[in-house]
Amino acid sequence: MVDLQSQYANIQDQVDSKIAGVLKSAAFINGPEVHSFQNELENYLGVKHVIPCANGTDALQIAMMGLDLKPGDEVITADFTFAATVEVIALLQLTPVLVDVDPVDFNISIDAIKKAITPKTKAIVPVHLFGKVANMEAIMAIAKEHNLFVIEDNAQAIGATYTFKDGSKKKAGTIGHVSSTSFFPSKNLGCYGDGGAIFTNDDDLAHKIRGVVNHGMYVRYHHDVVGVNSRLDSIQAAVLNVKLPHLDTYNKARQAAAEKYNVAFINQKNIITPIVSEDRDCHVFHQYTLKVLNTDRDALANYLNENGIPCGVYYPIPLHSQKAYADERYDETDFPVTNQLVKEVISLPMHTELEDEQLAFITSKVIEFVNR
Ligand SMILES: *Cc1c(COP(=O)(O)O)cnc(C)c1O
Repeated sequence: MVDLQSQYANIQDQVDSKIAGVLKSAAFINGPEVHSFQNELENYLGVKHVIPCANGTDALQIAMMGLDLKPGDEVITADFTFAATVEVIALLQLTPVLVDVDPVDFNISIDAIKKAITPKTKAIVPVHLFGKVANMEAIMAIAKEHNLFVIEDNAQAIGATYTFKDGSKKKAGTIGHVSSTSFFPSKNLGCYGDGGAIFTNDDDLAHKIRGVVNHGMYVRYHHDVVGVNSRLDSIQAAVLNVKLPHLDTYNKARQAAAEKYNVAFINQKNIITPIVSEDRDCHVFHQYTLKVLNTDRDALANYLNENGIPCGVYYPIPLHSQKAYADERYDETDFPVTNQLVKEVISLPMHTELEDEQLAFITSKVIEFVNR
């Protein structure tokens, strides 16, 4: 699904020498590489504070810890996402409120958010699924009206740019009150192990979060709040320092590959390709995900695998149907879109090094199968 080896080969000299530098300095934790990455990412995103941490799941949890949400507070998020999003809500003893998604861009449905708001609602967690930024303008308006926090789960859309109706632009992850991202190797900006970060423009919240990631310490050995231990290590930061300057190029390569897929699938009545909006940069294609109609999706996946083509089903089971998150509050009729998507979606190989020949082979096999 991803070709990290070819990507590494293109930056190997820089990465190897940066890592060797960390080894020589022995500044493994909180070293200069971590500080420079933090600064570079703040500049790139145009956000006041980047707080690095150990992974994207921690980042979400820590963002929520910073907001002082209380047990029983309701947090609305998408039913169609990776489990990390709902997991941290539950871990903090907040009440997850899963809602349906939009059939076109797979992101949290604005109508479903509106319907789910109660006096206990305290926050909304939009996930920019597959690299497409959610409808942040509408979400921020709802949040303002009901006095809610917005926590963007930006694990899949780093580098995407969102355009507001008035033409102003912001990077994904800098629109809500606080955001999280992941540097898991296969993400659009991936390190060579685990890593994550929290972003915010709020000085007080940033200060609070810097303590939370470090055992709740603001002054050494004074623990003012219950914290966690969550750090980005210097070796991972060194890798990210090499890769961040390439992020826009990497995302453009993904967009170009997505466009080639879309062109190849044009006129295929059993294939619904991802939306192409005027606003090209609001989608950085963490995944390239089709909906297949009148087709046994799992049989297609097997067929592709038999032909040596990797593919993935993200996600095969709605969160509201998972044992850990099932709840009698939920009614199947509240999730018509998610319940359909889990049967129809299939993600094809998507990375920065896809070649035309590979794309042609993949698309020919998909087209052959859906027209059987
Ligand atoms: C990857 C991912 C996470 C978790 O990131 P980790 O670094 O693996 O903990 C959270 N949310 C979404 C939507 C993700 O894709």
